[in-house]
Amino acid sequence: MQTNQKSLETSLPDKLPTILVIDDQPTNIQSINAILSGHYRVLAATSAALALEICQQCQPDLIISDVVMPQMTGLQLCQLLAENQETKDIPVIFMTSFSKPEEENACWQSGGADFITKPVQPMTLKNRVNAQLKFKAQKEFLAQLAFVDGLTAVYNRRYFDLHIVKLTARADRGQGGLSILLIDIDFFKLFNDNYGHLAGDSALCQVASGIKATLLRPLDFVSRYGGEEFVVVLPETDAEGALQVAARIQKNVADRQIPHKNSTHKVVTVSIGVACYQAGTAGYQTLIEKADKSLYAAKKSGRNKVSYCNED
Ligand code: GH3
Ligand code: MG
Ligand code: MG
Repeated sequence: MQTNQKSLETSLPDKLPTILVIDDQPTNIQSINAILSGHYRVLAATSAALALEICQQCQPDLIISDVVMPQMTGLQLCQLLAENQETKDIPVIFMTSFSKPEEENACWQSGGADFITKPVQPMTLKNRVNAQLKFKAQKEFLAQLAFVDGLTAVYNRRYFDLHIVKLTARADRGQGGLSILLIDIDFFKLFNDNYGHLAGDSALCQVASGIKATLLRPLDFVSRYGGEEFVVVLPETDAEGALQVAARIQKNVADRQIPHKNSTHKVVTVSIGVACYQAGTAGYQTLIEKADKSLYAAKKSGRNKVSYCNED
């Protein structure tokens, strides 16, 4: 733990859960650190303002905060954290000397996850901290389950449905273009019939990771759209950019040389339909219909093709 006034940090490995301790009395911080260090990476701040700065730089897994502090109280800090998308999920445990019910109520009302009374009992603190960290990890795990496809480990249809609405609305406000690629594996029924369903599952996973590997921008993502269909979402991307990404995906999949003797191409290939969103054209359904038409054209022109139909 550093001992300067600004921020105190243990020199432990990064993978330990990070706990930010906030108290205007450095001696209180020292005693909490003595209980937690060794099990957690402990950061410290002697004011709420410093704590906010630290939270912007590195999001701690948990905050333990004094309530009564000069300038900004722990309760005010907790409200500010709850209003920010980046920090709203960090649980806050208050350390209080309160005994009145209304003071305890204020901790809950400001969004606190729990509170512990001073003088802090080491066993109680450790158990409260563990309970909050476990709860947070479980919440994150459930979010993963809700939005990630179990077979291919790319995002699922639910994730796509949620985000495409937001992205088309954003484009409607004039905040960036948007393209999508609808990708369908060619002759996949024949692949299953010939090599079996498990080999089919494995090919699906390879195609999914091939698609994922070609996406270079942080905002791009791929979702499994249905059985052997994927959709790639490319925010801030025009037709030219989308066609380039589609060509890379088509090549990546074919280059894997997954044998498919009943395909005209003799290896597993994909057909790709490209569509670009035009702001104000009644939402994402039209965009998907356009991608569908493009995909149909790619299939019709022999498969292992990319197609972009521009007409509405
Ligand atoms: P096309 O070239 O026209 O796309 O022909 P296709 O055979 O790929 O298309 P079709 O829609 O007739 O068949 C899709 C196949 O994808 C049928 C289904 O068994 C297979 N499929 C869908 N989901 C899965 C899956 O999770 N695992 C496996 N192994 N196969 C799947
Ligand atoms: Mg299909
Ligand atoms: Mg298919």
